[in-house]
Amino acid sequence: MEAATTNGDYGIIEWFEYVAENAGLVQTETLRRILKENYGVEYLKKWLGEIKNIDEMEASALESLYTTLVPLASHADLEPYIQRIADGDPSPLLTQQPITTLSLSSGTTEGRQKYVPFTRHSSKTTLQIFRLAAAYRSRVYPIREGGRILEFIYSSKQFKTKGGLAAGTATTHYFASEEFKIKQEQTKSFTCSPEEVISSGDYKQSTYCHLLLGLFFSHQVEFIASTFTYSIVQAFRSFEEMWEEICNDIREGTLSPRITIPRIRKVVLDIISPNPCLAMRIEAKCEDLEGLDWFGLVPKLWPNAKYVYSIMTGSMQPYLKKLRHYAGYLPLVSADYGSTESWIGVNLDASFAPEDVTFAVIPTFSYFEFIPLYKQKQNQNQYFSSATDDFIEGDPIPLSQVKVGQQYEIVLTTFTGLYRCRLGDVVEVAAFYKGTPKLNFTCRRKLILTVNIDKNTEKDLQLVVEKGSQILSKKARAELVDFTSHANVANQPGHYVIYWEIKGEVEERVLAECCNEMDVSFVDHGYVVSRKTSAIGPLELCIVERGTFKKILDHFIGNGAAMSQFKTPRCTSNQGLLRILNVCTIKRVHSTAYC
Ligand code: AMP
Repeated sequence: MEAATTNGDYGIIEWFEYVAENAGLVQTETLRRILKENYGVEYLKKWLGEIKNIDEMEASALESLYTTLVPLASHADLEPYIQRIADGDPSPLLTQQPITTLSLSSGTTEGRQKYVPFTRHSSKTTLQIFRLAAAYRSRVYPIREGGRILEFIYSSKQFKTKGGLAAGTATTHYFASEEFKIKQEQTKSFTCSPEEVISSGDYKQSTYCHLLLGLFFSHQVEFIASTFTYSIVQAFRSFEEMWEEICNDIREGTLSPRITIPRIRKVVLDIISPNPCLAMRIEAKCEDLEGLDWFGLVPKLWPNAKYVYSIMTGSMQPYLKKLRHYAGYLPLVSADYGSTESWIGVNLDASFAPEDVTFAVIPTFSYFEFIPLYKQKQNQNQYFSSATDDFIEGDPIPLSQVKVGQQYEIVLTTFTGLYRCRLGDVVEVAAFYKGTPKLNFTCRRKLILTVNIDKNTEKDLQLVVEKGSQILSKKARAELVDFTSHANVANQPGHYVIYWEIKGEVEERVLAECCNEMDVSFVDHGYVVSRKTSAIGPLELCIVERGTFKKILDHFIGNGAAMSQFKTPRCTSNQGLLRILNVCTIKRVHSTAYC
């Protein structure tokens, strides 16, 4: 078997190198194509009026006409149009081609799922970025052609909107598309689980079958993957509890009664057959692994795996420690950057640690603009707290004008009918690859913790929790499983509450230390000043019982979220979630810092 660096791979790399080299020009042509395809739709007509000569206009003139006349929009501005589409209005509102499918963004970051148009272009770009990333990856970590991928991927339920359009998450549409099959053929790597397992609609049953089939084909598995890291960690945590049952199924060629969906039972039983030798080998390895707290589970159980691959940046960073533990010496390769709205950038440097990864913007996917974001001076504006954050915005600029070291919010104009739509992500330009910027993902722009004049983003919270949990691993043999937070303003003064799920025993004294450490680790000036003047009360650390975050996952899945796109909300004011968290709280500690 040969390494998967076939001619096809060289083709796609050459294509990307060309578009990256000419990124500025490619962007203006991308804008021209989007406008040509959708010229005359209701939304554009409202702002652009009649332009007849899109083809003849000089690229920069078209660009400046577009950005002068069409305003920056938030999803809320486009929502009335998307709602009309969902309700069955057949007129060209956002795109000339009728939209037949809508994607649901995960909604786990903002608490509310949004509809986003999905077209064939969406699946095609997904295929393109996956092929491109696979080609770059295989230069560093070649894999055998015809091998398998143990992929923890999940479709959510698809449903029809009032107007009869198919709706579901973008990953769901992609896994059901031709492009998903083509990707397996073109990258010559095949997912262990059949489509029925991916789309079972019950993530617990799918996870069991992914693990079972992954082990059944263990010698063929070339790498382990998922969309977001969360799913891999979640799957291996479940494996620690279910391995004996899985081994039994491998030995007997049977399927656990946990699997109740008839079509999954049939398809999985058709694939597996009794294999006592394999079961015995896996059992022996699992017994060893138990003694090692499952360190190095991946290379031990999948001896031919070359790496672990998934999105490890942004809100996935807190799971990296656990993933490293499971992966042992195997490299972790961080996957690409995109959203339900559009794919954005590809990771060209497979050998980089997830903490150092950047994403090279693919200039044909959408027309990208960048709003420069400048940090306000610490003591400036502290009494004029805005509801968003403490960035001052510059005017949006095109991709060709971005600068290394500067932070930006991304704005998208897509082939699927979004025009100058703010994505809400903050990125920093780390470098250039030829003519296209390589972006560092910084955080979601929206503030998550704010009570008074304090302003903290998800990233700020992440750093604080990291500091607190370091004490946990130093002074107690315990690990942080997951966390979230809440700005409690029910009583005056308001205060932050951080919820932790912990594995292991921790004395109250150590928890108090963690709580104090977190309180003093919020460096935001507004927070520090407010704490010193008692305008914000002491930080509260709530320890929730084991399994609480699984209940939270179930709560979201029950409301239509997809496991593949799930991101634990790092801050919540959702009453359902707070109810779960408060019912499951088994210990509360208040900070004594700033006393
Ligand atoms: P969704 O709403 O489910 O489409 O999720 C899209 C969001 O996930 C993006 O706007 C980012 O905030 C986040 N995201 C996607 N890819 C990455 C990545 N590679 N690194 C960090 N965050 C990401």
